[in-house]
Amino acid sequence: MSQIEWVQDWNARIKSCTNCGLGKGCAVGGVGNIEAPLLIVGEAPGEDEVLQGVPFVGKSGKDLREIFCDVGLLPEMFFLTNSVQCRPTKMGFKNRLVNRAPTKAESLACFPHLVALLDEMKPTVVLAVGAKATEAVRSLAAPKGFQLVSITHPAARYRMSAAKSEIAYLEMIKGVKEAKYLSGIIQRPNSPGVM
Ligand code: SF4
Repeated sequence: MSQIEWVQDWNARIKSCTNCGLGKGCAVGGVGNIEAPLLIVGEAPGEDEVLQGVPFVGKSGKDLREIFCDVGLLPEMFFLTNSVQCRPTKMGFKNRLVNRAPTKAESLACFPHLVALLDEMKPTVVLAVGAKATEAVRSLAAPKGFQLVSITHPAARYRMSAAKSEIAYLEMIKGVKEAKYLSGIIQRPNSPGVM
């Protein structure tokens, strides 16, 4: 089986998974270059991700992709997924389903999909976006032999004051540059020529 076929099979397994109560047509899975040295792991897909079937395409995903673009991290340099593969929801205003953070039980139920991806991809670096993603991958760093870089989830910035949000933004850029550098993709962050 080629690695492209493996990703297709992995995504198919996720789409038919019933390991927890989320499933039911809201699975997204992952995209990107599985031969790249860098795996980027978010928390869970939101409404936009489910509609498009692609991770990191909602508001916070777009913010993150802008940072990748700014630091010269091209799509072929990484694989993108989430620590929980289906969209967790709760009832919001006017009976509209809104996103929520995954529960511990949902994270545990989805853990085998992440482990399978790590075993196949063997990334040099995992960039975890947000606390939930960091929690999911932290215990795997030593046994799987990757370096872990964590950054703030872009959505967390929306609740911060302007000053704190700016600091968080700069820290996110620093983290993405570090992940890129540790992956062996570029020279040391902040060296001349690196945005
Ligand atoms: S969130 Fe994960 S464990 Fe739960 S149904 Fe979706 S793929 Fe399966």
